[in-house]
Amino acid sequence: MHCKYTIIGAGVIGLAIARELSSHIQDDMGVVVVEKERTSGTGISSRNSEVIHAGIYYPFGSLKHLLCIEGRRALYEYCAQKNLPYKKCGKLIVATHPDESEALAGVYAQAQKNGVENVVKLTKAEALALEPDLNVHEALLSKETGILNAHSLMAAIEKDVTANNGTIVHDAEVIRIEHSGKDFSVALKDGTVFTTSFVINCAGLDAVKISKMLGQEPVTMYPCKGSYFSYSGRHNCQHLIYPIPETKLTGLGVHATVDINGSLKFGPDTEYVDSTDDYSVDEKKRMEFYLSAKKLLKNIEEDKVAPDMSGIRPKIQGPDDKEVKDFHIKEDGYPGFINLLGIESPGLTSALAIAKYVWENFLA
Ligand SMILES: Cc1cc2nc3c(=O)[nH]c(=O)nc-3n(C[C@H](O)[C@H](O)[C@H](O)COP(=O)(O)OP(=O)(O)OC[C@H]3O[C@@H](n4cnc5c(N)ncnc54)[C@H](O)[C@@H]3O)c2cc1C
Repeated sequence: MHCKYTIIGAGVIGLAIARELSSHIQDDMGVVVVEKERTSGTGISSRNSEVIHAGIYYPFGSLKHLLCIEGRRALYEYCAQKNLPYKKCGKLIVATHPDESEALAGVYAQAQKNGVENVVKLTKAEALALEPDLNVHEALLSKETGILNAHSLMAAIEKDVTANNGTIVHDAEVIRIEHSGKDFSVALKDGTVFTTSFVINCAGLDAVKISKMLGQEPVTMYPCKGSYFSYSGRHNCQHLIYPIPETKLTGLGVHATVDINGSLKFGPDTEYVDSTDDYSVDEKKRMEFYLSAKKLLKNIEEDKVAPDMSGIRPKIQGPDDKEVKDFHIKEDGYPGFINLLGIESPGLTSALAIAKYVWENFLA
């Protein structure tokens, strides 16, 4: 059996790439996605904040910056076109004390430099008019930031792939890849072996492992857990509420997210971990989360804060790295081997733009 394009991983990135490719190539076995789990999207893509980011924080000219802005615009259009649940609710980035004003000014300057639309400065009174429960000295409002439902998004993309004659195979774990001069030979756990002209590695937390199968290790992966705590008390939050981001952008700081159903949760924090499959949330962090939430919102009650879920970032930025690392989207080692490594936030926002980038730069 031979297929032209093999995409490893049916998370939002692999599915978006399959959608893009299958819109150009509609032959049988032209585009095949192999996914080790029984259903699509059970990895990082279903364990995140579901925020459509505006593109504010990322270094100017980086893929994170450019693909976030392009992806965000494409995502709003796609959600509207497919009637998917989403809300352009806006986000407040809050300086709670005059000491944080300089850092907030830095965030504003980066937003301006990055050309992010509709980011405005708010005085304390203006911010309180939007969110009366805020602890705020001054704030920024990003009107283009929003939320969506990642599962509905992936289901819609998956439908497009199959409508375009693409194939998604579940229970299909890649265990070996070899390059044989011209093509690649891919072996699955169930014993199936097939050949393919292109391998597109979108295996999320396992992407570096896949890359090593072809002897390529251009980066190291440092899994970094982000835990969330839910809030069961009453709240009036209408916007996403963020503190000043962490230095080196390891994370955006524990923030308050209202999901598409109006539920409030806090997180994610950042914790470098050894395991890529331990999703437990440490109850001992409850006080830390409560205090972070309380710093942003006045009326948070401690006993209404409870451990919720976690996700793990496939970071290629180690704890000691001095610089913010960009998405690694490159042809590595062999013509036709496209590696997508370190696709952490804003990967969900950027998915449709990443797909277009991969097609235009490596495959068209
Ligand atoms: C805590 C957290 C919060 C986040 N918040 C946001 C946010 O608010 N907004 C945003 O834009 N982004 C956010 N992100 C980032 C976003 O979730 C990811 O960038 C995106 O989901 C990555 O998708 P993926 O397809 O690369 O990975 P995944 O969804 O993990 O997909 C990879 C797939 O590959 C499969 N696979 C692995 N190995 C094999 C193999 N050997 N054979 C076959 N299949 C294999 C896996 O089973 C999996 O389904 C967040 C991430 C985290 C962790």
